[in-house]
Parts: sequence; structure tokens; C-alpha cells
Amino acid sequence: MRQNWHERFAETPDVLKSAKRKQTLVPVLDLEIGGDEFITMAGPCSVETEFQLMATANHLRSAGARILRGGAFKPRSSPYAFQGHGLAGLKMLARARQETGLAIVTEVMSEADVPMVAEYADILQIGTRNMENYALLEAAAHSGRPVLLKRGMMATIEDFLRSAQLILDNGNPNVVLCERGIRTFETALRNTFDVAAIALLKQISHLPVIADPSHAAGHSDVVPALARIAVAAGSDGLLVEVHPNPDKSWSDGDQSLDFDAFDNMMTSLDPYLELRKLALRSQGLPVCEILRLRAMEAV
Ligand code: PEP
Ligand code: MN
Repeated sequence: MRQNWHERFAETPDVLKSAKRKQTLVPVLDLEIGGDEFITMAGPCSVETEFQLMATANHLRSAGARILRGGAFKPRSSPYAFQGHGLAGLKMLARARQETGLAIVTEVMSEADVPMVAEYADILQIGTRNMENYALLEAAAHSGRPVLLKRGMMATIEDFLRSAQLILDNGNPNVVLCERGIRTFETALRNTFDVAAIALLKQISHLPVIADPSHAAGHSDVVPALARIAVAAGSDGLLVEVHPNPDKSWSDGDQSLDFDAFDNMMTSLDPYLELRKLALRSQGLPVCEILRLRAMEAV
């Protein structure tokens, strides 16, 4: 029997596709997330120095990224690790936008910081550790900025949809869902990339869905493969960590791509993005289905 997703996710009706709402397009400067253009967001885990950020932003723009990421407020596993530059980091991000034209996405960790972060950022990122921090979600919703909502590392798809519903309920329709890996019994990689969540969310929700292969993998050599898989699963974009010198990175160096690796990843995405274009023209067939049809034609 076919699953009735509206019944299954009855608690979160507004995030589900309907006759009225087939696809949400989230406007960010001159871009739309969730539309025909595949949007790559990239940048360092943390904003470290003016030089690090500007060198990265300039490179990323020339390599096809559309949005610059970088943490000014960092949720670190250790209380003794670098916690981010705060306001000084936000100011560096704003200067990078001014110089490159790239839109800015950055994490906000506290309700109290929402107005300040919203002043400098184009998109507010809610991190995995805060996905169920409803007070923060409400404050982010009321900021009027689009919200990039990361899936909690221990959240089910239903939990994830509940958090998105709360933001919509608070009057903000511009939510981007981000699959960033979940905790399972597997320990070789940092998290388990739940590609099925992307496939399902694209099927049932009108909200844009993107993938963060960096936090999912935890190792830079696995990131490009997960990025390609994300496109095949129907992702609308990527969030990727890039650093001029990952060995010297103040946070998440193991999973950060250097500039060459980022360029190679982008080139390797090209055939998948061509298939994505075909998929968009084929009444919503998923990219993986187009791949299958192509493969059948070839034999
Ligand atoms: C980040 O994007 O740097 C980050 C901390 O992500 P997450 O919340 O997914 O761990
Ligand atoms: Mn990180």
C-alpha cells in the first residue's frame, strides 16, 4: 500500500507540498534557493582572519559558489576550543559580501544575538545542536531573514519537519532544510549522511533541501562523493567547508577542502548538474531516475 505522507506527517501540514504550494523559492539577494539554479554555499568553518576570509571568498566566487559561509559564533564540542570572533567576525563577513557580491550565511546560536546577526547576514543558519531550540527558532523566524535549518544530529525526519513548521507558523516562509548527517552506530565517518532524507524531503516538502557533505563526512576526501550523491538525490544546493590551508584551520580542518579540491569537486559535479537540468525539464523526475534512463539507453 502506498504511504500517505500527509497522514504520516499530519502534525506539520504547512511544510508539505499541496496543490497550492508545490515549491518554495527562497530569495537571497539576486538568487533563489529551490529553483532551477543549483546553489553552492561554501567557505570556512570559522571566520578566522581578514586574509583567510577574503582569499577564500575571492576564490569561491571565481569557482562558481554563490553564497559565502563562515561561522562568527561557533558551537564547539570543547568549551576550550575557539568559540568564534562574534561581532568582529560578522563585520568581516559583511566586508567580504561588499567586495565579492556573495551573499552571506552564518550561524546564530542565541536568541539575544538574532538582531545583530540578522543585520550582517543574508541567511541565518540554525546549527544541528539548536534544531530544537524553539525560542531561538521563533526569534530567527521573526528576524525576517531566510533561515537555513540544519537537521539535528539525533533528529528524526519528523522532528526536523516540526522545527521547520514552527518557523513557518511564526510567519517566515523562507526556510531551507539542510541534511548534515546524523549519529548512528557507525564511527569511521563523523556522521552518517542520510541521503534517503534528501530523497524523501524533496518528494514531500515544498521547502528547498540542501546537503552539507562536510559535516556528514568529517573527512575531506569523502566530501566530493557525497556532494555528487546529494545532486543525484535531488538536492537544491550544497553547504561545503573550504579553507586556504586546512591543516592550519582553527576548526574542522579535517573535513575542509583546499581550493584545488573545491575546484575539482565543482568540475566533477558538472555531469550531475546536466542531468539535474534534464530532470527539471522532465516533470519532476528525480536525477537518479534520469541517470537510470540514460544508462538503459546506453546498453
Ligand atoms: C557548521 O556549519 O560549521 C556547523 C557547526 O554545523 P553543524 O551545526 O551542522 O555541526
Ligand atoms: Mn564546521
